[in-house]
Amino acid sequence: MSSFLPYGRQLIEDDDVAAVAAALRSDFLTTGPAIEAFEQKLCEAVGAKYAVAVSNGTAALHAACFAAGLAHGDEALVPAITFLATANAVRYCNAEPRFVDVDQDSGLASAAHFEARLTLRTRALLPVHLTGRPVDLAPLRALAKTRNLLVIEDAAHALGARYRGQPIGACEFSDMAIFSFHPVKHITTAEGGAITTNDATFAKKMRSFRSHGMVRDAEDLLHEKDGPWYYEQQELGFNYRLTDVQAVLGTSQLGKLARFIDRRRAIAARYDALFAGARYVRPIDKGTPDAESAYHLYPVLIDFAAIGVTRAEVVAQLHARGIGTQVHYIPVPQQPYYAARGHHVADFPGAQKYYAHTLSLPMYPAMSDDDVERVAAAVLEVTGRSAG
Ligand SMILES: *Cc1c(COP(=O)(O)O)cnc(C)c1O
Repeated sequence: MSSFLPYGRQLIEDDDVAAVAAALRSDFLTTGPAIEAFEQKLCEAVGAKYAVAVSNGTAALHAACFAAGLAHGDEALVPAITFLATANAVRYCNAEPRFVDVDQDSGLASAAHFEARLTLRTRALLPVHLTGRPVDLAPLRALAKTRNLLVIEDAAHALGARYRGQPIGACEFSDMAIFSFHPVKHITTAEGGAITTNDATFAKKMRSFRSHGMVRDAEDLLHEKDGPWYYEQQELGFNYRLTDVQAVLGTSQLGKLARFIDRRRAIAARYDALFAGARYVRPIDKGTPDAESAYHLYPVLIDFAAIGVTRAEVVAQLHARGIGTQVHYIPVPQQPYYAARGHHVADFPGAQKYYAHTLSLPMYPAMSDDDVERVAAAVLEVTGRSAG
């Protein structure tokens, strides 16, 4: 009851620990059979043809941008509200992100937001399923088709989410989707990530990219093999490999995904009910029934000005009551690195408003119903007048 509730955390159970211990005693700690088994299980979970496991979600974004062919002189459209990694991956390819405003009530960038920022240099759209709520992908796909652009979903928040009944990651409306297995995400491999796609060429490129750009298959080689050891490096890759120890943890965790998501949805429903009458605290906009959120996060929008309390004070008072919160996210164009590159946060009023009001409350499957009630009561208490 009195233990501290972080805004998110992993749920590791005894069978996860046993799987990791067995992997540590096996022949392969890395580059072994556990990687393919995990990739296969991820394909089944999201309904994609190919999955490529990598060392983290940022590496997954980098690999996807690389496979998309992003290079110097290109632009990729990135929502102004996202984690830094979405924009940084574009920069890793020497391309430039062009930021896109978001809806002030959901934090999501829609097709109309993307369309408003297209230029002749635009090569790719990077929608972000912020908090786990899927972006309306069909109009985005239609937009991409008319301009011959690639769509790369940043689905780091959205494993287990569904759009029009299909799991996010099935890539029915995109070219690639990326996931993160950081401990605060839906399943964890400590650090880890993956890309899913239905395109064999993209998958092959990313497999090579995660291991220095090496290729070994005879049909891919430029020169004759002079022995079984022979390999070629044809492009500049990285060491972005996931280990087998992590992959077995991922496989074990994936088996629990449905249960974890059910619990997250139940927690969200309880929060929704507890905040239903509040005047100055409201859940983010849920969108249409087409989009079934995976609830990576549970942010509320608080009218701090109306209640005369700053967000920093609310955060401190909740912390004093044993409740952790976080802000997702500071608009990326506001970051000194991007401001110095000529991006202006003032161009994104929706993002600024969303940022001014959002606060992510504790959301993770191990929370009890009592925990949820304790958080909601504390939020209503410290935002004072909101109960009226
Ligand atoms: C977590 C996250 C990433 C990066 O994942 P890492 O595994 O931490 O590298 C990328 N985009 C978003 C939106 C994320 O939340």
